[in-house]
Amino acid sequence: MSLPLPPSPSSGGKNSGGPNNKDNKLKPTEPAVRNAWSLRIATVSGIPIQLHFTFLLMIIWFAASSIATTGAGLVLFTLGLFTCVALHELGHALVAQRFGYTVRDIVLYPIGGVASIEQSPRARHELLIAIAGPAVNVVIALILTGILSATGQVPDFTQTQGGALAGFEKTPLRLLLYANIALVLFNMIPAFPMDGGRVLRALLALRLGKLRATRIAAGVGQFVAVLMGLYGLGIFGRPFANVPFFPAPGNFSLLIIALFVFFGASQELQAEQSQEMVEDAVVSEAMVREFTTLAPGDSLRRAAEVLLATSQQDFPVVLSEEVVGVLSRNQLLRGLAQEGDTAYVAGTMSRDIVFAGPNDDLEPVMMNPNGVQKAPVLVRGADGHLIGMVTMENLMEFMTLRQIARARDESERDRA
Ligand SMILES: [Zn+2]
Repeated sequence: MSLPLPPSPSSGGKNSGGPNNKDNKLKPTEPAVRNAWSLRIATVSGIPIQLHFTFLLMIIWFAASSIATTGAGLVLFTLGLFTCVALHELGHALVAQRFGYTVRDIVLYPIGGVASIEQSPRARHELLIAIAGPAVNVVIALILTGILSATGQVPDFTQTQGGALAGFEKTPLRLLLYANIALVLFNMIPAFPMDGGRVLRALLALRLGKLRATRIAAGVGQFVAVLMGLYGLGIFGRPFANVPFFPAPGNFSLLIIALFVFFGASQELQAEQSQEMVEDAVVSEAMVREFTTLAPGDSLRRAAEVLLATSQQDFPVVLSEEVVGVLSRNQLLRGLAQEGDTAYVAGTMSRDIVFAGPNDDLEPVMMNPNGVQKAPVLVRGADGHLIGMVTMENLMEFMTLRQIARARDESERDRA
């Protein structure tokens, strides 16, 4: 099944409410080895900073090729650039932390860094979080300009041609200054989910609400991504070839970024839509009330019969009115294959149970930092008895029904 709430590329599983609904009783499942391809290089303010292995490849490649060409200068520049990208992401991350959001990590890729913020920030916060990254590069650029001008070394970047720096000696500091200005200009392109696009969405969201703002920003982002992709392919862009800070047309990494923006925009829109659908709902609205339970002493054969007889995929296991486990379809099948149909449910079921109350907010209950809660959530009444459960399947049904109701409301409002 495809996940309705894909973790967004630029902000991780940003799917659970604001910063204030954090007291849900869930023990979030440990993140899967998410950064198996990354190397932790530092931890700042509790945020691990990781280098993606492709970044390492790039540095090795740069280092290897620089031996033949410009020597240590290029290595220095590369390290400096990567520091500037890391500081840019830290800018986002620390401002997000200040507003009370959780920043899971920062991963540095060759085409840029990504700070994963676990919740979807409010518009006013998002505006400042998005601006903070480029603002860091503005500060770095100002400092570099100061250093360079003190020694009379500020180069005239307007003389350069299409990203090909010409007409001045390329020292690491000058290249870094150029790179920081380019980082600011590039990131502020209003291509959601890039920083400029986030600023656009935040500004729109102040007036239009987050969902409509996301729709518009995602549309603009995808339009810009198509232009960027065509430019990256070299299909158009000759007139821009000599504009300072414009990369030369026919640039492969632009194409990669264009793809990233294009799919990132639709993923974020989808995530926002799903989130909107569970907002303001409580658990009892979405839970299944009629279901079959098993006893720990039941055989797997009995469980298999129930699986066939019902449309249920997950079975609460109950012993004298107390829930002691959950048996999922997959666990049942595995148990049947490994232990045979005479084995007991108790030996196969999972004892890791996620409980919720009927009046809990649905959104934090069904989301964990990695997206949708995959295990069913069991709902207990005030007396501790099992009164319902929320599964992936019926959560999907609930969101579909809400979506239809919303669409009807909207069309009726439009007609009025
Ligand atoms: Zn940024």
